[in-house]
Amino acid sequence: MTGTISDVQAPQSNKTAYDGLRDVVAGGVSSNMRARGVAAPIVVDSARGARVRDVEGNELIDVNMGYGPHIFGYADPDVTEHIAAQFGRGHLTGLPHRLDRRAAELVAELVPGVEQLRFANSGTEALMSAVRLARVLTGRTLVLTFGGHYHGWSETLLRTRECDGYRPRPLAPGMIPEAMAHTLQVGWNDVAAVEAVFEEHGGDLAAVLCEPVLANAGVVAPAPGFLELLRRLTRSAGALLVFDEVITGFRVARGGAQERYGVEPDLTVLSKVMGGGFPVAAFGGPRDAMKPLAQLEAFHAGVYAGNHAAMAAVAASLAKVRSLPALYTELEALGAYAESRVHEAAAAAQRTLQVRRVGSVMSVALTSPATGAVDPGGHRRLQTACQARGVYFHPIPDEPWFLSTAHTRADLDTVAEVLAESLAEVAA
Ligand code: PLP
Repeated sequence: MTGTISDVQAPQSNKTAYDGLRDVVAGGVSSNMRARGVAAPIVVDSARGARVRDVEGNELIDVNMGYGPHIFGYADPDVTEHIAAQFGRGHLTGLPHRLDRRAAELVAELVPGVEQLRFANSGTEALMSAVRLARVLTGRTLVLTFGGHYHGWSETLLRTRECDGYRPRPLAPGMIPEAMAHTLQVGWNDVAAVEAVFEEHGGDLAAVLCEPVLANAGVVAPAPGFLELLRRLTRSAGALLVFDEVITGFRVARGGAQERYGVEPDLTVLSKVMGGGFPVAAFGGPRDAMKPLAQLEAFHAGVYAGNHAAMAAVAASLAKVRSLPALYTELEALGAYAESRVHEAAAAAQRTLQVRRVGSVMSVALTSPATGAVDPGGHRRLQTACQARGVYFHPIPDEPWFLSTAHTRADLDTVAEVLAESLAEVAA
């Protein structure tokens, strides 16, 4: 190894930096999603507000925002100062800390379906634990999921969108096919398929698990009455309704999708906005549902779970979420503004962008003029052209845009101008 940590800050091109890091980090990334579909990798130097700065010194307006946690923008002082202070006071002892209660109380106060919870390090972990808890509570194993909903990369939940009947397949090499034997899948908003699964398997279902707003295959809101149907059917079959609110929690409303749509699940999984970008997640529900954990019968653990810096991140983020009465009205208005500007940009370039939005989460996808369907290749070229002009979003059209209080209307005007120019450049 050569150099010191300060050498890491020396200016260099994105290409040199990326080639260098690919030497030692497999694929150049620690999450496959960071490399998928990327034509021109950028390597980050720093991020503040609504902007990332790369190692060449370019500043880009970012509408991906770290996949959603930064509702107040990057490096928000109200959050980061608390986390930094906690580092100075010891961030991991492996013992309960006074901050744990503060963080948990804020979640329980804001999220209708949560009275008690456990903290974990990532959405994937919290979902594994929530599903295991559902199995403990019901004594059953089957879990019904929905195509395109992402629940992390664990052995029983990382599945293809397509099914053999109701049976999804493991998505990636190295996964154990038998581990998927207890996972079923139907289409999102497909009432007939859900009813058929309940007819056939209702008595064996431990849980129905969904993103209450699908946000990992573009944004698709629940059809009117669909969450209510899931609530009714799970209740009458003795299965649990589990909402993966990793994206929607504290995002589509203060109390998440369950507040926005007025449907309370049995278990809720949270992450992202809850920790302001710090790696932290939680799963929780009413006291009764958490009893197997309260009594230490169900197993959940983790050296870093609920570490003190993570608890400072949750306490600071949620205290801020709670303190701003107009936060969600403002984010809604910002989302509506962004949506209309994006449509205008598309119209100016005589192209069609498919835009789907719930509050401050929206998917924007280039469509093919010939078929009207989303055009992933064209979208990727559009992303590359926008990135070269200083606007960053993910090259895969399924990945939504996330707005924050750090995005100004002027930023969104710039995004729209860049989109229009880039659309004109990308051949249909
Ligand atoms: N659930 C949803 C809805 C997500 O969007 C994600 C990640 O983006 C996860 C679960 C997995 O969370 P993590 O990447 O923290 O494991």
